[in-house]
Amino acid sequence: MSVVRSAPSPGTRRGTGRLFKIVSAAAAAALVLAGCNAARDVNAEEPEDDPVLHSSFSLTEEQLLQMVQSQPDPLPARVAEQPQRFLELADSVLDLEHDFILLVDKQHPLPPDYQPADLVSLSDYHGRIGYAAADRAVREAIVDDLLAMAEEAREDGVHLLVQSAYRSWSYQQTLFSNYVARHGEEAAERFSARPGHSQHQLGTAVDFAPIGHQFTGTDDDLWLRENAWRFGFSLSYPDGLEAVTGYIYEPWHYRWIGRDATQLEREFFGGIQQYMLEFLHTHADTLRAARID
Ligand SMILES: [Zn+2]
Repeated sequence: MSVVRSAPSPGTRRGTGRLFKIVSAAAAAALVLAGCNAARDVNAEEPEDDPVLHSSFSLTEEQLLQMVQSQPDPLPARVAEQPQRFLELADSVLDLEHDFILLVDKQHPLPPDYQPADLVSLSDYHGRIGYAAADRAVREAIVDDLLAMAEEAREDGVHLLVQSAYRSWSYQQTLFSNYVARHGEEAAERFSARPGHSQHQLGTAVDFAPIGHQFTGTDDDLWLRENAWRFGFSLSYPDGLEAVTGYIYEPWHYRWIGRDATQLEREFFGGIQQYMLEFLHTHADTLRAARID
């Protein structure tokens, strides 16, 4: 292996007395990861010959590359270029509340009784963010970033208006049934989620007005495309990715995943939320198990 052990970054510097723990954890992680590479006898290696990449993870470069090798582009190449940076960002993202990075799509539903505990009405923030009706609600955890984003947009002459935010399972059921009645099931499936399968049930997804094709190319659209990631908001259903996300292009639909996660998404997953959430769905537990703290 050509990679030498990196110096810890200032924020994560650890004493040399921790080396034994790091090496022990590396051996433990090797056992965890052995399933990824049954042909390799990980236990036969000397830990000194297989240095860990990042002080927070007992992972070698080879183990990390194996974890990402079958993922869609650009992840494998990006991780190969900057494995330590990947783990640095992953370290922050793994600290997030699990629901913020929970995969909710056509294959991964929420239970009917799932309802976030910290919902707040946007009418409590009247004058700081536009909303279509007083009952529009989001999780309190996303409010600071939502308001900061709205304020900066306003300074640029863009007045964001929240058309739709938290939606309960039963509300989504009504909505989807109405779309099916109007457009047929096949068409409705492409732009609306069945109950339980909507990111809106998480309380962290927001649709900006106007919902529909007329949103494309508006000042709001262009501003959000450029800036939303800086406030932790990620476009869930990008153009041309219906086969990946299950939904047509929805330039108005953003999900808050936090600023560390949008950074990770941009640098390693080509800005494609679905790829990152699928990766975390599959590998977050393995990464957590390989954490040293
Ligand atoms: Zn939406």
